[in-house]
Amino acid sequence: MSQQPVVAFIGAGNMARAIIGGLLENGFAPANIWAAEPDAERLEDLAAQGLNTTTDNATAVAAADLVVLAVKPQIMQAVTRDLAPAAQQHQPLFVSIAAGITLAALDQWLGGDVRLVRCMPNTPSLVQTGASGLFANARVSELQRAQATEVLEAVGIALWVQNEAELDAVTAVSGSGPAYYFLMMEAMTAAGVKLGLSETTARDLTLQTALGAARMAAASDVDAAELRRRVTSPKGTTERAIQTFQAGGFETLVDTALTACRDRSIELA
Ligand code: NAD
Repeated sequence: MSQQPVVAFIGAGNMARAIIGGLLENGFAPANIWAAEPDAERLEDLAAQGLNTTTDNATAVAAADLVVLAVKPQIMQAVTRDLAPAAQQHQPLFVSIAAGITLAALDQWLGGDVRLVRCMPNTPSLVQTGASGLFANARVSELQRAQATEVLEAVGIALWVQNEAELDAVTAVSGSGPAYYFLMMEAMTAAGVKLGLSETTARDLTLQTALGAARMAAASDVDAAELRRRVTSPKGTTERAIQTFQAGGFETLVDTALTACRDRSIELA
């Protein structure tokens, strides 16, 4: 993007720091970034990197084109209500990364008629391999969408969905998804140990295999089903394992688990 937006983070915790790190790595000027936090000590290292820092959220909002709301969901209402006067006066784009808080609620708290993006990121954003789903309200311009994309792409991929309800499906696939892979890693490591490997060997083999499979799938132009077929020789060892998974209802279980996750996401909103 030719002209960098001024980006402010309300809350300088884990997620904000991950995104700030990604922006700096991608050549974003520290002078174009603001971080606001009540805890002044948490701002010291960011100030040392050349960012603008403040303990007053409204000051950051007044300076920004794009404001990332990166506080915990429980305090979002109080934080955004306090920001309503600054939001109404300066009209920046707000991007909320808080789980389960609707655009309607944010719009009301910020005083109404606000330009808003709701984003569902995931924890691998902390290692710049995140997957975020985004949805914008009708007031957001194409330029602002591009700016929101640029900010979230600093920590991974950022994909727009067609309606807000799809964010519940995003939660089911990528928001909660890392935990599914962690569960698979736990189970594979435990099974490896049961088959006689040391804990370290079982864990290292499991992790490297997950990483390798993900890298192969990401680098390939064929889908996962085809990659699986290619490594499954007729009557071979992999085929025996896959048949065992399928006989146990693996695909149905995954479908049921993701539906349960989506339903819980709807309940919590
Ligand atoms: P965190 O606790 O690390 O960061 C929150 C920060 O907000 C803290 O530094 C805290 O001091 C600050 N804060 C507290 N009160 C404040 C106030 N009044 N004004 C400004 N800042 C204030 O939390 P996190 O893990 O970075 O999560 C932030 C948001 O991101 C949450 O809404 C969460 O739902 C969402 N999220 C996080 C993850 C993740 O992987 N951690 C994934 C998806 C979504």
